[in-house]
Amino acid sequence: MIIDTHMHLLDSQFDIDRTTVIERAKQVGINKLIEVTCDATYWQQAITLANKEHNIFVSFGIHPINILSIKLLNDSNQLIKVAKHKKCIAIGEIGLDYHNNPTYNEVTKQKECFIKQLDIALSLDKPVIIHCRKAYEDMLNILLKYNLYFKGVIHCFSGTLQYAQEFIRLGFLLGVDGPITYDVTRQKIISQINLNNILVETDSPYLIPYKYKNNTKRNEPCYITAVIEQIAKIKNTSYNMVSKITTSNALKLFKFK
Ligand SMILES: [Zn+2]
Repeated sequence: MIIDTHMHLLDSQFDIDRTTVIERAKQVGINKLIEVTCDATYWQQAITLANKEHNIFVSFGIHPINILSIKLLNDSNQLIKVAKHKKCIAIGEIGLDYHNNPTYNEVTKQKECFIKQLDIALSLDKPVIIHCRKAYEDMLNILLKYNLYFKGVIHCFSGTLQYAQEFIRLGFLLGVDGPITYDVTRQKIISQINLNNILVETDSPYLIPYKYKNNTKRNEPCYITAVIEQIAKIKNTSYNMVSKITTSNALKLFKFK
């Protein structure tokens, strides 16, 4: 039993064969999938998808790269409403992204939007799915300032071992996906991290694992097996052990009913 804890199946790249993709995911043993949304335009579609597919759950949030186009007050009121849906298991993805050198004002708005959504997650008692790119210091400071044992995952973790340990100390899990199959730095870090602190994910249609790169550019949930295989290799343990422990981590974090 495997859970893909992070995918974007509503991406238009899946418009032609979404049902087949879900079927292929089942065939490799994935019995739950989490559709992670990045802005309000996807929230209603995500509910429709989750209502149709019993094994798909949803996370609602506004991604830091989308915040310039939003009306925060309006969208956060809507977020509170949709997040009460019975298949909403988290708030996300939310966070900070400094990859494209945002201006001071943009950074301020990212932080404001992130903190607002952390507050919403807290008030609804939901874990958070965090996106953090080149912003680990600010991310850690915000989470520390919150001074609480917040539950969540740092999705697609790409920081240093020291940051990894700090986030784990705060109660966060680390999301591991395709880059673990070719990024030596991440492999070294994961070799130092206990399996109890790891979630597996695909971030489909992005971040395709190395072995599928020649066949296609589009990642999909069933390729999560390559991520699990790689972690098993790094940790010198079995595929089944990695899927068992990471699934149990996901079940606990997201409190699946
Ligand atoms: Zn994502």
